[in-house]
Amino acid sequence: MNKTLEGQVAVVTGGGSGIGRAAALRLAELGAKICLLDRVEETNDKVQDRIQENGGEAIAVEADVSDPASVENGIRQAGERWGRIDIVFANAGINGTWTPIEDLSPEDWDQTLSINLRGTFLTVKYAIPYLKRQGGSIIVTSSVNGTRIFSNTGASAYSSSKAGQVAFAKMAALELAPHRIRVNAICPGAIRTNIGKNTNRTPEAEEAKIPVLFPEGSMPLQDGPGSPEQVAELVSFLASPQSSLITGSVIYIDGAESLLIG
Ligand code: NAD
Repeated sequence: MNKTLEGQVAVVTGGGSGIGRAAALRLAELGAKICLLDRVEETNDKVQDRIQENGGEAIAVEADVSDPASVENGIRQAGERWGRIDIVFANAGINGTWTPIEDLSPEDWDQTLSINLRGTFLTVKYAIPYLKRQGGSIIVTSSVNGTRIFSNTGASAYSSSKAGQVAFAKMAALELAPHRIRVNAICPGAIRTNIGKNTNRTPEAEEAKIPVLFPEGSMPLQDGPGSPEQVAELVSFLASPQSSLITGSVIYIDGAESLLIG
């Protein structure tokens, strides 16, 4: 295995599950030391154990990305332990409540925006002093929902948070370029993770979406949704020096789903 990220330190939010977990494992395989920030301690600890069993270095910190003190503490632990941070994967997110705007409570709106958008801002904000020392790469997990609107799903809060992440990533790319810090947003399509379990949509409604998103014969992905490991490959590429000319970009990883919607 070519350890292209040997000596580098990566902070991964939402590292306990799905895309964050797969990215953390892949970045560790490539030699990076990993700080996992997740609000679910049990799954976060398991990813830390897995990385250590594989001979890598990792710390798991219980953190809520919407809470400034919590994020600052987690990032400081990585910075103090290893003396640097090179890679930030701002990925933690929730689907939140998908419901018509008229019925969406202000509290549910705030929760989605707090975790998905404010959480991204806080993660980047507190990592900047460390990244500035030697440069680095920030990857933000937005979604196809951030730039395309498909069907009447009631995803106003989710889509707004994901669109906000795209704008934030572009702004950050310009602001941080003088410090040799690259910033890109990735927009996954449907990926098989646990995220659907935390919404108000039934598993049947989730399954019903699949033939709409992946009509037979129109896609390379005949199996339907992608895997977290496929997204992890993109994340590790964007984290690596091989992508040195890519910043301020919005990159779809969706099997062309975004061409069919919106
Ligand atoms: P997931 O539910 O498997 O993982 C999300 C992780 O984030 C969990 O470990 C969860 O505990 C953590 N998390 C949630 N709120 C948090 C908070 N406040 N503080 C810290 N950690 C928190 O879901 P996933 O699909 O891997 O989602 C990762 C990202 O990918 C999200 O931003 C999501 O919007 C985005 N995304 C997912 C899909 C998909 O189809 N799965 C598609 C597009 C975008």
